[in-house]
Formats: sequence, C-alpha cells, structure tokens
Amino acid sequence: MRPKILVGEQHIVKVRDLEIGNPGKPIIMAGPCSVESREQIFQTAKAVKAAGAHILRGGVFKPRTSPYAFQGMGKEGLLLMREAADAVDMPIVTELMDESNLDLVYKYADIIQIGSRNMFNYSLLKVVGELDKPILLKRGMSATIQEWILAAEYIAASGNKDVILCERGIRTFDTYTRNTLDLAAVPILKMETGLPVIVDPSHGTGIRELVEPMSKAAMACGADGLMIEVHIDPDNALCDGPQSLTPEQFGKLVQAIK
Ligand code: PEP
Ligand code: MN
Repeated sequence: MRPKILVGEQHIVKVRDLEIGNPGKPIIMAGPCSVESREQIFQTAKAVKAAGAHILRGGVFKPRTSPYAFQGMGKEGLLLMREAADAVDMPIVTELMDESNLDLVYKYADIIQIGSRNMFNYSLLKVVGELDKPILLKRGMSATIQEWILAAEYIAASGNKDVILCERGIRTFDTYTRNTLDLAAVPILKMETGLPVIVDPSHGTGIRELVEPMSKAAMACGADGLMIEVHIDPDNALCDGPQSLTPEQFGKLVQAIK
C-alpha cells in the first residue's frame, strides 16, 4: 500500500516564523528528556537558546519502561516548560501519550510529539490528524519505513498534513548502542513523502559521545533538523542522562553543524 496524500514535492511545516523542511536551513530542537524542576527547565531553555537551538523539547508525560521510574511532571511540568520557553521566545515540542491529555497538550505545545511507542496507535494518530497543529511523528522502534510512512498517512488522511518525521533508531541484534540509527531512512523518506525529516541521535544511539558524529552524518544525508537531549547536570538527570549533552557540549555541536 502506497501513501496517497503524502507524495510529491517538499512540504514545509511552519511553526511561528520557523520553516521546518526548508533545504539548507536545519532546525534544531533541544532540551531535557524530561522537565524536572522550574530551575532545570529555565536554565536549560536559556542555555539552548543561547547556543542556537530553535525549539525547546522536553517530556512531561513520559513513556517509561518501568512503572517505578519517574513518569514526568505532568501538567505542572508543561506549564513550567511553556513559561521557560516564553521567557526566551521559543516554541516547544512535547509528547502526547494518550487522548486524556489532548486538550492540555494542544493548548500549550507548538508541536505535538507522538513517541516511538505510540507510532502504531492508530486511534491516537487519527485524533491528532484532526488537529490544526504540527505533529512530530517518531519512528516506532520496530517499525519498517513503510509502516512509518503509513502511520504518517493516517495523520494526513484525517486532515493534518503538517507532519514532521523523526528517525530515532530501531531495535536490531546489536546491543552496543541503545538503538541502531537508520540514516538511510532520511533520503528514502524525502523521496517517498516530501515531508520534513529530523534525526534524534540521542535516543538513536543512547551514548553521549556518538551524538555529535551522528548529528553531522544526519546533516550530510539531508536531514531537515535534529532533536538533541541536553541536561544541565546529566549525571543526576532523572531520565536518559547517559545520552544527554551538557549545554557546553551542545553549543559545540551547534557550531560544528554550522
Ligand atoms: C522522547 O523523545 O522523549 C522519547 C521518549 O523518545 P522515543 O519516543 O523516541 O523513545
Ligand atoms: Mn529521552
């Protein structure tokens, strides 16, 4: 089954004055895995903005493997993130896990993220397909490119063509890295759909030292942007510290990309 709507020329997704999918103008989304406190998100927002990020990322409803792990700050975290982003005039992207928080996330987020675990949640895809807000659709950790394209097509078929695809790695036999970052997907998706494609080398590798080289590789193969996890104190992060960059490391990465 081939997509019917998501075919053809390059589609640009507009978020305020940003154009995601504009060739030669990569968009960088950066921020913590999870919003943890007022101080953490305000400091991070300021630091990533100063370093050159365009969009603040941060999870408040977290899909954690263990039910005993930190589940995110919820509404309180979302309001803090909105405030921190407004203070530095940045749009935000955050994950919507289920329909129960739809109104809340719609109200405060500029881009709604559908995480890897929900890429196959067709009823949720239909729901966000009815919104007039951009959707960042992460690749399912065991999704083929074809399944991923059809998941995007679900959103478009419900009316919302503002979909940004995010390659975040897939599960393979190799366990050295957290996931195997499939960069071949980038040019394939651009040929097949024309949608903006961004790359998340943080979840894609799980290893801080690999984030910069894989960011450069993503740019070299035509990605429209990056999603990078940044933490002011990675060693004490409540989630994904080993793959998070410090603001200084993030600043170096942005300079290297430029
Ligand atoms: C995230 O970006 O916070 C996240 C949970 O990523 P993924 O859905 O790709 O695992
Ligand atoms: Mn994370």
